[in-house]
Amino acid sequence: MLRLTEIKLPLDHDEAALTQAILSKLAISSSQLIDFTVFKRGYDARKKTNILLIYTLDINVTGEAQLLQQFAKDPHVKPAPDTSYKFVATAPKNLTERPVVIGFGPCGLFAGLLLAQMGFNPIILERGKAVRERTKDTFGFWRKGTLDTESNVQFGEGGAGTFSDGKLYSQVKDPNHYGRKVINEFVAAGAPEEILYVSKPHIGTFKLVNMIEKMRAEIIALGGEIRFSTRVDDIVITDGQITALQLSNGETLHSKHVVLAVGHSARDTFEMLYNRDVYIEAKPFSVGFRIEHKQSMIDECRFGDNAGNPILGAADYKLVHHCDNGRTVYSFCMCPGGTVVAATSELGQVVTNGMSQYSRNERNANSAIVVGISPEEDYPGHPLAGIELQRKLEKQAFALGGSDYNAPAQLIGDFLKGQSSAQLGDVQPSYTPGITLTDLSNVLPAYAIAAIREAIPAFNKQIKGFSTNDGLLTGVETRTSSPICIKRDKEYQSINVKGLFPAGEGAGYAGGILSAGIDGIKVAEAVALSMTK
Ligand code: FAD
Repeated sequence: MLRLTEIKLPLDHDEAALTQAILSKLAISSSQLIDFTVFKRGYDARKKTNILLIYTLDINVTGEAQLLQQFAKDPHVKPAPDTSYKFVATAPKNLTERPVVIGFGPCGLFAGLLLAQMGFNPIILERGKAVRERTKDTFGFWRKGTLDTESNVQFGEGGAGTFSDGKLYSQVKDPNHYGRKVINEFVAAGAPEEILYVSKPHIGTFKLVNMIEKMRAEIIALGGEIRFSTRVDDIVITDGQITALQLSNGETLHSKHVVLAVGHSARDTFEMLYNRDVYIEAKPFSVGFRIEHKQSMIDECRFGDNAGNPILGAADYKLVHHCDNGRTVYSFCMCPGGTVVAATSELGQVVTNGMSQYSRNERNANSAIVVGISPEEDYPGHPLAGIELQRKLEKQAFALGGSDYNAPAQLIGDFLKGQSSAQLGDVQPSYTPGITLTDLSNVLPAYAIAAIREAIPAFNKQIKGFSTNDGLLTGVETRTSSPICIKRDKEYQSINVKGLFPAGEGAGYAGGILSAGIDGIKVAEAVALSMTK
């Protein structure tokens, strides 16, 4: 099969144009073309009046070898790579030990699924509830402000990405095409097929809930076991080897192969691991606010007269600004047509994040606008100091919001002028339980406020209207990635505790649903190889 890349066609092209583009690119007759599939479809909207669709196509033709020779110097005509997934091991028939996966977010889900598919009958432990019950608790918090610290946006079946925009792209290097395995499994579980080929696939929150239930059923059917409302409170290490886990129900569970996929909000678990001398380092993360604009303004700015075209969908953006004070401000986890959500897992704290439905048809666009911070400069001295900084900022936001889980918010215009907001403009806040208009200038460190004040007008040069007075900032956004890294070796095991496989976002090896899923696959392979050697 041949792969053609960079095939560009106008946004409104007809069906036949793709075939025609293939024939003219390869200079072949239609009788030579057997069939083709779209591997990827992106767009180039740099010229609003001439938006182009950009295709990567996989093509079956007669005379493939000759064509490859003919186009040997053309980087856009190559053999299509084999992206099919191949298992690295199969469990022995007399399996004497079951591997354990802690956490059932995207990383634990894929680690558990792969181990189950290879026959290792994994036991998966999840501190939160099954996804339907968890949805009730989470939406209950958003409506009434009553937080369940074990069942919320961060904790429960599906992990942190369950109530999200379900964006499924990542910039991680993926030479083994594990990302394709993740996407294929999601489609098999009911995700829309277009995620196989659009360049920025997303699923939206309600579809994710159904898919996770189907994937859970597959793991169980293959011999795996999932225990909800079961938190790992302690680990037993004997001569540098993990041997057992102490569970919140009082049980001791023995295993010498444990995947640690607890996400970035398992602060109590990180403290426990630190106290057990598991090697942990502080790592950089980012802090800032959620920004909200009208989606129609973003669409108009990015797509002009083509705003609303169903192929383009709701417009997104990606922005970066390097500030005079040496800081970098960037947009993160942009949710077109979505809502800002309350994302705390601890009492007395306020944290923002964003989510959307598959349709992305809510009136506002939201994104985190965050400043990169590092342990060397901003929270030196202790591996867990980043967690303490997060807690401090989240508590400040709680207090500024009125100590009732309302989030503090400010109009962009007022923030830039340094004056408190008293009245909303034409952007209605989407955050629930609610917002409190205030002055955000003391809720983050001064360097972060200065950097964001400089960046917003700079972003306005790329997206006209970005610094509109009426846009809204809501805070604080502090859980952008893990503040720690649990170091692992080439075999994916902790550098000082054998049999402990730190994985996913919490351990510092992923950032997002797709990369967490990919890391889950890698770690499942490492566990399988270590159990069969
Ligand atoms: P998590 O998903 O955090 O899963 C960890 C799991 O471990 C949790 O379920 C937790 O309950 C469990 N756990 C923790 N401690 C213990 C313990 N001691 N015992 C047992 N279980 C434990 N990413 C994207 O790519 N696209 C998006 O659109 C997107 N939107 C997001 C929106 C929101 C609101 C949030 C919060 C995150 C979003 N993300 C998004 C980020 C994404 O969700 C995470 O990167 C991803 O979920 C990380 O996966 P993980 O499996 O490593 O960890």
